[in-house]
Amino acid sequence: MKVSEEIRSLIPYKPGKPIEETKRDYNLTEVVKLASNENPLGPSPKVLSAIQEALPEIHRYPDASCFQLSEKLSGKLGIDKNQIVFGNGSNELIDLVIRVFCEPGSRVLMSDKSFIAYKICAQAARVETKEFAMGNDLKIDASGIAEYFETTNDPKDRVLFIANPNNPTGSYMGNEEILRICEATKGRDNFMVILDEAYNEFVRAPDYPDALELVKKYKHVVNMRTMGKVYGLAGIRIGYMIAHPEHCDYIHRVRNPFNVNSLAQVAALAALDDQDYLQKAQQTNWAGLDYFYNELESLRLPFIRSEANFVLFDSRRNGGQFTEELLKKGLIVRPMAGYGLPRHIRLSVGLESENQFAMKRIKEVLDILPEESH
Ligand SMILES: *Cc1c(COP(=O)(O)O)cnc(C)c1O
Repeated sequence: MKVSEEIRSLIPYKPGKPIEETKRDYNLTEVVKLASNENPLGPSPKVLSAIQEALPEIHRYPDASCFQLSEKLSGKLGIDKNQIVFGNGSNELIDLVIRVFCEPGSRVLMSDKSFIAYKICAQAARVETKEFAMGNDLKIDASGIAEYFETTNDPKDRVLFIANPNNPTGSYMGNEEILRICEATKGRDNFMVILDEAYNEFVRAPDYPDALELVKKYKHVVNMRTMGKVYGLAGIRIGYMIAHPEHCDYIHRVRNPFNVNSLAQVAALAALDDQDYLQKAQQTNWAGLDYFYNELESLRLPFIRSEANFVLFDSRRNGGQFTEELLKKGLIVRPMAGYGLPRHIRLSVGLESENQFAMKRIKEVLDILPEESH
């Protein structure tokens, strides 16, 4: 079977190591996973009972239009229903945007240390990529990106992905920076800026942009969000995009009609109503981040202030070895060598007890591994 070069050279997405597998491989009884930016609270009880109630109907196909969910979200965000598309996680929407708005010879643009799905989906669609290099501050180079578009108008360029806050760094772009990029790219015939806000609800920065206003102001701006992170629905797969109705219409034509399963629809509906859960998730996260900052400071490990639910830090040691030693002690984290950060570790925020477990294990490993110089 002939397979294209793009597919043959695809490096598959590497998810965080599952808990059960880690227990088996390392002969452990207690394992804490802080590797996939999951919500440590577990699902909301309201979500669980909504799913229970819906179970007897799973022999039916789901509502292909996500009618009730669209109504609810539309009311909540003040956005017209024809500007919303739900997906099987926002990951599916990333894939769809590229498939719908790019063709062979097009190019998708992104930062070099950003969510890896942009690159994988582009390559799978046989579409070229251009990566903007990040500076030493490990922030997306907003002015570099703006300057590129202010001075270049290459018809190959079709879609720019900006993860804001960015995964895996946790850094964010402020309103001014995003506005400059929107201005530099507006009025182009075939160009789109995707503001991927998977961590939107965790942001504390006062100058974080209002993406919904930007979608209203600029036809070429698309906002993506997920219910997998702050709402704790990662396993049931649901995310959404907000965009100009014309763009949504094209996505609807291409998507699988039943891309959002019936349990995901009722789960999301219940989750959107559970403000207490949302607030608890935010408070848990912010307290956890502040705890990590204090601990990392006292250990003199450099880290980046995060607007998301994880923190990226420099272990000053070989990150692969560091991760391996932590695994032996029952802590799963994410090494970052794949992003060109051979000493960095991405640590998700857990429950208070899990965060304490993590710092204890990290301290133990700091003592057994030699420090590396720059
Ligand atoms: C987690 C994440 C997503 C996708 O989440 P889904 O589970 O597919 O909804 C998208 N973008 C970024 C930056 C993420 O970190």
